[in-house]
Amino acid sequence: MKQADANSFGATSFGAMQTTIASAVTMSGVGVHSGRHTVIKLHPASADTGILFYRADIGDDDGYVLAHASNAIETQLCTTIKNNNGTEVRMIEHLMAAFHGLGIDNLVVELDGPEVPIFDGSSANIVDAIHHVGIIALDSHRTYLEVVAPVRVELDAGTWAQLIPAPSLQLDISINFTDPGIGEQSYRYDSRDEHFSTEIAHARTFCVYSDVEKMRRAGLGKGGSLENALVYDNGTLMNEGGLRMENECVKHKALDCIGDLYLAGMPIKGLLIAERPGHRLSTLLVQALLRDESAYRIVSSDEDVIASSADTIQMTLAASA
Ligand SMILES: [Zn+2]
Repeated sequence: MKQADANSFGATSFGAMQTTIASAVTMSGVGVHSGRHTVIKLHPASADTGILFYRADIGDDDGYVLAHASNAIETQLCTTIKNNNGTEVRMIEHLMAAFHGLGIDNLVVELDGPEVPIFDGSSANIVDAIHHVGIIALDSHRTYLEVVAPVRVELDAGTWAQLIPAPSLQLDISINFTDPGIGEQSYRYDSRDEHFSTEIAHARTFCVYSDVEKMRRAGLGKGGSLENALVYDNGTLMNEGGLRMENECVKHKALDCIGDLYLAGMPIKGLLIAERPGHRLSTLLVQALLRDESAYRIVSSDEDVIASSADTIQMTLAASA
C-alpha cells in the first residue's frame, strides 16, 4: 500500500487505484430518528471489499451488510440496507456521500446499533475524520460503473430522476418546496472539479417545521434538533446561525444523491438529472440501472471492460463474506 498523492487526497477524482483509509477512526453521536447514542468505527479494508457495514451488537456473519442497491429496502426519510438475515443499518446516506465524494472504495463501517448518527446533519464530521487519518491507495485497479444509455425513474407529482452518459460523476438537480424559505433551487456538480469537500460536504439536511411535528407523531425524529437540521417555518429559517452557504438545501440534496448513487457498489461515471430527488427515488434509479445491463458497463481503471454486473456483484459478495 502507498499513500495517495496529495492531489488525489480529499478529491472526487476516480484515480487509477482503489483506496481505503490509512487507519481506523472512531466517532459517536445520536441517531436522528431513534435518538439512540451510537459509536461508529471506520476500519481500513482490502481491495474489492466495497463499503461493508458491520453491526457489532449483532456480531459474526449475521452482522455484515454490504452497501449495495440489492440490499436497499424501502423506508421513509433515510436510506436503509438489510442483509438476508434481517440485520438493518439505517441512515447510511451521509456516510456513503463522504465515501463516494472522497473516492474511497473500501471500508468496514462498524457500529453498535441500527442507525448511523446524524452528527451535524451533513457529511462534515465524517469528511474531517477521514482527512484526519488519510486516504491510501491499494495495489488493485479501481473499477467503476459507466452509464452508456439513459435510465429514468419517475414517481408522482413531478418527481423524476435520470442517469445519462457523462465522462465523470455529474449532477444537475432541482428542488421546489412550497415553503418560501426554501422555494426553487438548482445545482450542478462535476466530480472533476473536486468540490465535494468544500461545496457539498457541509450542507445540512433540512425540513419544514410542520414535518417535524408529523415525524414526532410517527415516533421518528427523536434525535432531531436545530443542531443537526435546518428547519424552516413559513419562510423563516429557525436556526440562529443562518445558512452555511448559498443554496444549502439543494446542495444537501446533491450530497444525498452522491451517497445513494454509491449503492451501485462502485463509483459511477454518468450525469444524474433529477427533479425533487429523495432517497426512494435515488435508490429506485440505481436499482433500475443495475437491472438494465444495456445501460452500463463495468470498467477497470486500466480501461478494460472486466465483467457484467451480475459477475461483479457475486465477486464483491464473495470477497466480503
Ligand atoms: Zn440527507
